[in-house]
This record gives sequence, C-alpha cells and structure tokens, in this order.
Amino acid sequence: MKGLLERLKEGPVVGDGSMCMTLEKRGYCRAGQWTPEAVLEYPDAVKQLLREYLRAGADVLQTPCYASSDGRLKRGRITYKTAEINEAACDLAYEVAQEGDALVCGGITPVLSYLQNKGEEAIREEFNGQLDVFIKRRNNVDFILGEFFGHIEELEICVDVMKKAKMPIACTMRIGALGDLNGVSVEECAVRMAKTGADLIGLNCLFDLNATLKTLKRMKNALDAEGITTPLMCQPLGFMCPEVEHTTNGYSGLPENPLAQDPRQVTRFEVHKFAREAYNLGARYIGGCCGMEPHHIRAIAQELAPERNRNPPVQDMCPPCGLLDRSSISTIQKKVDMEFWMKVKPGSGRPYNPPCVKVAHVNRF
Ligand SMILES: [Zn+2]
Repeated sequence: MKGLLERLKEGPVVGDGSMCMTLEKRGYCRAGQWTPEAVLEYPDAVKQLLREYLRAGADVLQTPCYASSDGRLKRGRITYKTAEINEAACDLAYEVAQEGDALVCGGITPVLSYLQNKGEEAIREEFNGQLDVFIKRRNNVDFILGEFFGHIEELEICVDVMKKAKMPIACTMRIGALGDLNGVSVEECAVRMAKTGADLIGLNCLFDLNATLKTLKRMKNALDAEGITTPLMCQPLGFMCPEVEHTTNGYSGLPENPLAQDPRQVTRFEVHKFAREAYNLGARYIGGCCGMEPHHIRAIAQELAPERNRNPPVQDMCPPCGLLDRSSISTIQKKVDMEFWMKVKPGSGRPYNPPCVKVAHVNRF
C-alpha cells in the first residue's frame, strides 16, 4: 500500500472529519470535556463514523483519540489511561481502514504540561505517553499528526519528540490572522513549522473556511519567500464564523459555542469551493475538523476527483447533484446542474436572529 509521502506526490490527499463534536451530537461524547472515552465505551459508534468518512472518500483515518493525554483524561467521568485509549483508537482506525485503502494517522494532542509551565522535560514526557502506543503499533500506523497547537514553541517540542517514531510527520496549528497565542505571526509560524523538518504543515480547527484560506495564503507566501516547499495541509472548522476572524479563540468565543452552532454549519457546496481554492493555494492534504461531517468530506473528494483520478466510493449514490431529475417533485427535478447549487445562498430560516453576533473574549487556552 502507498504511504503518505508517495500519495502526496501523486495528488491531493483527503483527510477525515469531525470526531468528538459529531460523536457528542450522537450521544457518545461529553461536550466540554471532548475526551475520547468512546473508543472504549462505544467502539461500534466510533467505527461507524470512521466508516462514513472512508465511504465519503477519505484517504486517511485518524486515530480517534483527541485529548488523550493523562492530564486531560482526569477530567473524565472515569479516568482511563492514555495508553489504553490510544491502543483502542489505533485498533478501531486500523480495522476500518482495512475495509478500504485508507492510511491510519496517529493523532497527538497539545499537553497540559505546556500550559501549566511544567518545564520541557514534563512536556516531552507527556508527548511520549501519547506517542509510545503509535510506535508500538507501528505496523498499523502510517504516519503521525500533532494538531491543534496554539503555540509554535509547543509544536516545535512535539515534532522533536515525534521524530523518534521514524514515520512521516504532519503538524497543524489552530491559528488565524493574529498568529499564535504568544503573538508569533502567521508567517513566522509557517517558516518555523517547516524548519522542524515535518513532512506536512498547516492549520486546523477554530476558524472557518474563508479565514482558513486567508491564513493559508499568508503561510504559502512566507514559505515561498524562504524557498521552502513543504506541502500544506488544512482541516478547517465546519461552521461559518466571520466575526471571530480577528481573535485568537476562534469559534469558541461565540455565545452559541459549543451546543447551538447548527445554523452556522457549512454546506457541501461551500466545501466544494473551499477545496478548490485551498488546492489552488497549494494545500495537498485537505480534510476537516469540528463540524465537518461525512458529506463535507465527500464534497472534497468529489471536487478533487480530477486531480485524484478517482471518485469517492459512494459516487454512484451521489453524482454532484444526486439523481434529482428523477424526483417526483417538479421543482427539485430542475435543480440538476452543479451551477445552480454552487450559486444558491441558503437562508437560515430564522428571521429574528442576527446574521452575526457580538463576540466575547475568552481566555480558554
Ligand atoms: Zn476542531
């Protein structure tokens, strides 16, 4: 089977989408904690969601173990160990990946030791605790991803720890226009990420499709100026939130975060446009984070089908506009061309709601 680096050379790689936020809606994860106990408590539910991403065209299934770090797991109802969560997450992702042609990506999360200023040794030890399972299961894990970093300094330590796995390394930051939480600019973050030696660098979570494209463009320009060719990746938020573009908290500063964001969810056609623009900006790994559901991942795979020489496995169920011409409803029968759908501006159906809200500044991170 072809590995990540080989696939990146051949064409764009499609990542998977939202896990804990989607599992919370389905009743398998606790909002606020967002810890991944579901891999042990509800393995069938986790496998089903992974399977949906595979069917949608994802080339990669990430081990569903976001926030699996001993410090963070202590907030759970029952305290599990990082190792047992990560082992179960590896097994589930590997089992489902075998049903198709997907790679397994071992996911690493920022650590509390960094936030609590416990010193570099403690930080490294906490990262090692997450990484060791992926090394032990190296026959079932194809590459590793450190994601959701708010500080470039922490990401640099993480990538250094990840090198001992001797697998391809990807890393992403949750930054927007203002750069990292220490005020390091987007441009400097991009160059420093590349200089860690990671094989793939980019952005995930917190900011919407449009904001992510703007930040991605700044990263690309900064890398070009230094002659750096490390490929870019992005796994943006599946909610529109232009009012938080110039904050460091992103969508967590919205009053309706995290339980009433539904009206902001992106449409699959917005994701089509995003995937095309991100690809044009140089992104070679495109997936999704919170709120990006299987049909959004399918839109990425469908949009980039010409570059990938293949359609998602469920293409027969959903050519770009489905089989709308066969509908028994005459108004639907006419909406068969992609152009209609790419132009449609969906209403929210809430005439008394404002289009945007006042944003609170939260110091959550
Ligand atoms: Zn996210």
